[in-house]
Amino acid sequence: MITRVLIANRGEIACRIIRTANRMGISTVAIHSDADAHALHVDMADEAVRIGPAPAADSYLNIDAIIEAAKASGADAIHPGYGFLSENPAFVDAVEAAGLIFVGPSAAAIRAMGLKDAAKALMDKAGVPVVPGYHGDNQEADFLAGEADQIGYPVLIKARAGGGGKGMRKVERAEDFQAALESCRREAQNAFGDDAVLIEKYVSAPRHIEVQVFGDAHGNVVHLFERDCSLQRRHQKVIEEAPAPGMAEEVRAAMTGAAVRAAEAIDYQGAGTVEFIADGSGPLRPDGFWFMEMNTRLQVEHPVTEAVTGLDLVEWQLRVAAGEKLPLSQDKIVLEGHAFEARLYAEDPANGFLPQTGTLAHLEFGNARIDTGVRTGDAITPFYDPMIAKLINHGETRDEALGRLRTALADTHVAGTVTNRAFLAALAAHEGFAAGAVDTGLIDRDLDMLTASPEPSDIVIALAAIAALDLDPADPRLGWRLWGEASHQVRLMHGDSLIERRLVLNGSGSVTLEGETPLLLDNLSRDATTFGGNSGSLSFKAGVVRYRTAGTANVSVLLDGALHAFAIPDPLAGAADAGASGDAVTAPMTGIVRLIDVKAGQSVSAGDRLAVVEAMKMEHPLTAPRDGVIAAIHGEPGAAIEGGAVLIALEPEEG
Ligand code: ADP
Ligand code: ADP
Ligand code: MG
Repeated sequence: MITRVLIANRGEIACRIIRTANRMGISTVAIHSDADAHALHVDMADEAVRIGPAPAADSYLNIDAIIEAAKASGADAIHPGYGFLSENPAFVDAVEAAGLIFVGPSAAAIRAMGLKDAAKALMDKAGVPVVPGYHGDNQEADFLAGEADQIGYPVLIKARAGGGGKGMRKVERAEDFQAALESCRREAQNAFGDDAVLIEKYVSAPRHIEVQVFGDAHGNVVHLFERDCSLQRRHQKVIEEAPAPGMAEEVRAAMTGAAVRAAEAIDYQGAGTVEFIADGSGPLRPDGFWFMEMNTRLQVEHPVTEAVTGLDLVEWQLRVAAGEKLPLSQDKIVLEGHAFEARLYAEDPANGFLPQTGTLAHLEFGNARIDTGVRTGDAITPFYDPMIAKLINHGETRDEALGRLRTALADTHVAGTVTNRAFLAALAAHEGFAAGAVDTGLIDRDLDMLTASPEPSDIVIALAAIAALDLDPADPRLGWRLWGEASHQVRLMHGDSLIERRLVLNGSGSVTLEGETPLLLDNLSRDATTFGGNSGSLSFKAGVVRYRTAGTANVSVLLDGALHAFAIPDPLAGAADAGASGDAVTAPMTGIVRLIDVKAGQSVSAGDRLAVVEAMKMEHPLTAPRDGVIAAIHGEPGAAIEGGAVLIALEPEEG
């Protein structure tokens, strides 16, 4: 029996686990860093324990502090979620040494699958097909090049300790091998502290298909069918689905059989995923898939399996960890319909998918199962994974489920940070994807189309202008003309471009946006976050939100699934800029303070470096705008800072 579980994680997965624990009558303990003191998972748990400062190394990865928190709060089990310590066997040892239950596999099972080379050797022995290649101990460069020649190009060099899509290099030609090997090793050494690699045949038109498995302490192992995770960018999953499109029964039998053998070979207990790479150059074949690795934890995309089986995988994890038998035998586990999951991130697809930060001024999701760890008003900080939510849709058929996902994405409105929503929506509307023709190269091949950012239409500009002027066209007491000026010159920033248009108020809920072809909108109505109206015979409904970020007013407009954010230039901005170069030194973007070079009271000269802020993975030096004396410092190394916030103030100039 588990009566109280500590969740050694944050974000959506911590919230996800708490929900199931609540339903099962298990009380919950959250842990949090300073950056997460007011996070959703902290609010949802019965008790919360501060574990350390914001950086993960000092908080969510701090084994001693987490064990201490579990003991102090009377927890009898620890659920690791995914990421962080979930696949760290030393953590499992520490949990068990403290007399607590680890909700997951044994340390031995994690160790067996921890390094990709040893795992492949083990799987090979267990009769699981593995990707052809070299996974031995000899790490000599010339020897590896020889192996690559024998395997045949293209090959994939993989860090044996790799994960999260890092430490991999595809090599097309023998002459590129040595340079790729060196750069792969450097990355692996940096990211994993281990530069050993294996060489694999690069499977052509590869599809990533994985099998969900579950084992218990009584020797039972079952599978919960497969998921297709072929839509990837930089080897990271973007949209996942279950079942895999085009999966024939005999291929499914071969693949799920191999996955169960893999789990049995290491006496696996709990939830695990066996990942295969399949040859997608033609129909899937029983002899056309190979083991890549096993993830010994709950997977990010587990909800699609829940959607098609109707089961709660976290409940199964908790039951199995408590020593119960698997709730169902294999023949009672049935697959019904089709499901998709899309991962909504704060990132900028048009800008190399750069992670974004910001405060979620507005957060509204379309119709889907939403797994999230944030609410309106919460911040996406630079400290952790910038995931905002997972949208999960189920349907009787693949078409129906995909249609629902498209609608859910079109109706999702996030303001306050840039997200990948439009990219996900474009992907969900991709013809090849809709036809089930997926492979891991799909996104890269069509990247330009998938990341194109359309210009705002005149309807969108007119609605943004109304919101920028803060007019309510439907206010019955006023009527249009009584707002004073019947015509306004409106200035809006869309990205780097300034839009200047004249908006004429015609009265009775009607406006005209002037231009080469003037646009007339009528029957306008407005409530807190929606505008309705007509443009000719077309009637529309748009999500319109006005919000502030670091001193700037913004408007975001969601119309027909396309979202546009506009900044409203402050007429006084010129004056404010003058102030900034006078007394205040501000952060150029939201980021983390890395260095403070000065102390209060110190004299500085124009151009002296005063501080360094890290944002978007780059360091930005902040320099003194003039000669002067430091009056105040509003931050310290390691602290987060919002874009536009004053970090250092100079004493005002005399006279
Ligand atoms: P999967 O194979 O399950 O899809 P991924 O590799 O995409 O897994 O996701 C696991 C990754 O998620 C980790 O490597 C880590 O970067 C990230 N991560 C870890 N913990 C969290 C969390 N609480 N919230 C969001 N992301 C996390
Ligand atoms: P990670 O631990 O980073 O998840 P994986 O070994 O699971 O590493 O590989 C990640 C992704 O790289 C796969 O989902 C797949 O898209 C691609 N990949 C891995 N191995 C191969 C291969 N042999 N041929 C083609 N693509 C591969
Ligand atoms: Mg993987």
